[in-house]
Amino acid sequence: MLIDSYNRKIDYLRISVTERCNFRCQYCMPEKPFSWVPRENLLTFEELFKFVKVAIDEGVRKIRITGGEPLLREDIDRFINMIFRYRPNIDLAMTTNGYLLSKVAQRIREAGLKRINISLDSLKREVAWKIAQKDVLDEVVQGIEKSIEVGLKVKINSVPLKGVNDGEIIDILHYGMERDIPVRFIEYMENSFANGSIEGLSSREILEIIGKKYNFIDEGIEPGSPSHYYRLENGYRFGIIEPHRDDFCTHCNRIRLTAEGYLIPCLYFDEAMSIKDAIRNGDIEKATQILKEVIRNKPEKNRWNAGENSNRAFYETGG
Ligand code: SAM
Ligand code: SF4
Repeated sequence: MLIDSYNRKIDYLRISVTERCNFRCQYCMPEKPFSWVPRENLLTFEELFKFVKVAIDEGVRKIRITGGEPLLREDIDRFINMIFRYRPNIDLAMTTNGYLLSKVAQRIREAGLKRINISLDSLKREVAWKIAQKDVLDEVVQGIEKSIEVGLKVKINSVPLKGVNDGEIIDILHYGMERDIPVRFIEYMENSFANGSIEGLSSREILEIIGKKYNFIDEGIEPGSPSHYYRLENGYRFGIIEPHRDDFCTHCNRIRLTAEGYLIPCLYFDEAMSIKDAIRNGDIEKATQILKEVIRNKPEKNRWNAGENSNRAFYETGG
């Protein structure tokens, strides 16, 4: 079992399989980075899988494949299936922008993926276009519908931004309600890569908007999840991810692996250690040691609640 210095059990690994993306979301990667990581520095699926086995053997029980955009790695179903065959009962999930999803949903489901979180910031074509800086809405919606059809457990992620999509919070909630899939609103997390002019809505502001239309009860933080859940009178449940809350990190159970092999203890912080050499040299003992050290060094808290910017790019850490 993996326990950090604040007595938190770490059993959740998020793997960013690529930093590349086909969107240019204002809050994440508004411009193409100056340079991409050279291909030879990226871990292959075989190399990532070697580390996945270490993590599972040490106690990881939940794995999420993310990016950048994970579906840009064409044979991602092969990687999913490697993990699935090693431990079929692992909670195996993906986060995607959904653009390429409708064509591969069936394939990734059959490979062993259980759950999928799809980002949907707007139901208006022009607004979705403005946020992603690309005409994306039809493809994303097709991806969501196809995922439901093939039996993946779907959640919607949505980042409300002031003056951009904050008028659509109820519409997005209804979209989830009509399909019986949870929506999770994410507070915008300030970072030095985002478009400096954007401003997110706080959890309180999101709840004020929803409260004008619906009564709801606070069901608290769900164990093992970053999300605070609320239930409407009609039974529908939605979540808000509130990294600005002082107690947000209290139950954090996760670490992150980048496509280059950096193991990162916290979404906010810069500290990271590379497992690449250990994995490439076949030194499993060393990889295990690095995993334990990164977990030991996991900070107590992020600093968004202190109003600071993170210097980590979301497209690198996988969100
Ligand atoms: N490309 C995929 C996607 O967009 O779903 C996966 C990677 S993305 C980095 C993972 C999640 O992080 C998405 O739900 C995205 O909305 C969220 N995200 C990215 N930048 C963010 C920011 N600055 N604040 C809050 N959420 C952010
Ligand atoms: Fe790409 Fe996801 Fe970042 Fe948008 S949030 S730029 S889709 S990685």
